[in-house]
Amino acid sequence: MKQDLLNDPVFGMAAEQFDRVADFLKLEEQVRERCKWPKRLITVSLPVTMDDGRTEVFFGHRVQHHLSRGPVKGGLRFHPKVNLGEVAALAMWMNWKCALMGLPYGGGKGGIMCDPRTMSAGEQERLTRRFAQEIGQFIGPEVDVMAPDVGTNAQHMAWILDTYSTREGRFVPEVITGKPVELQGSEGRTQATGHGVAFLATRALNKLNIPVQGASAVIQGFGNVGSYAASTMAFYGMKVRGISDITGAIWNSSGIDPAALRKHVAETGGVARFPEAEAINAEELLLQECDVLVPAALERVITAENAPDLKCRILAEAANGPTTPEADAIIEERGDIFLLPDVLCNAGGVTVSYFEWVQNLQRFSWTKKEVLSKLETKLNEAFERLLSFTSEKSCSHRLGALALGVETVARVKKTRGLFP
Ligand code: GLU
Repeated sequence: MKQDLLNDPVFGMAAEQFDRVADFLKLEEQVRERCKWPKRLITVSLPVTMDDGRTEVFFGHRVQHHLSRGPVKGGLRFHPKVNLGEVAALAMWMNWKCALMGLPYGGGKGGIMCDPRTMSAGEQERLTRRFAQEIGQFIGPEVDVMAPDVGTNAQHMAWILDTYSTREGRFVPEVITGKPVELQGSEGRTQATGHGVAFLATRALNKLNIPVQGASAVIQGFGNVGSYAASTMAFYGMKVRGISDITGAIWNSSGIDPAALRKHVAETGGVARFPEAEAINAEELLLQECDVLVPAALERVITAENAPDLKCRILAEAANGPTTPEADAIIEERGDIFLLPDVLCNAGGVTVSYFEWVQNLQRFSWTKKEVLSKLETKLNEAFERLLSFTSEKSCSHRLGALALGVETVARVKKTRGLFP
């Protein structure tokens, strides 16, 4: 099993990062092993009746990295290429992210291999409900709380909530986060990840003495995270010059209007052919000069090939795992890029998920203003903690952020001891 996981390039990358951090922290062997490997890897087959009457079988995974500090927390992704190794890597990263942010959770992640872009709403609903039913016995408000991720949104969460609540015979909003507000979802959750990315980008700009007003940004990915990062950055007075998604990449040096682009995407299905910008090559987009580069799509897009040519001052990792360890080494060596590592940069989503769960458990709700201001406080604390740690230990932001997360988990494992 260990070797199967290590053979996956994304898990291999998460494991390599972990080993580096474990060496840095001088973790003792027993704790190190327990921190590294996932507790539960669940795979289920999901037969679904398609609109044309055929039955198609999909596969879904849920990985629970560990439950030592509380329920596991993390998204559920729909993507044609998702696999168990990738999901296990994403679960491990969620672990360090929750620990770094001081949230009482372990890390989890789920993925169903499917292409939501080619499926009707009815097909997606049947698939989501079947998954919720199949893994119903392994999730729960104190065990595993899912949330949206790539390819899923509040509606998918509503179907999971309904399926789980039907199984239980009562309304259980605290089993899922990122759900619609009318089902006791939290105000501010939809924009939380993108808002956090933009907020942290302004904190990094401040540290570099670059004025926020007029600072330029390039964003790869215009899904939930990329689009809200763009609108929040524009709200702060930044200029989002380039944006890409799977349909293509666009450029406008005077700044793209995220609201107009969102409308265009809703009508046409992608950013390509947006009338108020020019087309640009998607690979080239990452190499344009800008203050903030935001990879907001999938893993492993900043590589040894493009890292030497990046022309950004800040790399704000809105996606999980966008930078390979080889690229990390190049960025560290260059020393001219301020890295906002994924486990901090995109932690706005899971932090507001935590707020949502707390509100649900108390049957109480906060205003959007309260939510976003509590979010900024938490992100700022983690940002400052990271900067003091890295300057004290003279290490990179990547190593520092992961070390703060891993150290917290390792301490808990050690104190709890090993059963039996
Ligand atoms: N999918 C998001 C992430 O990768 C959010 C997870 C959550 O809210 O639980 O952080």
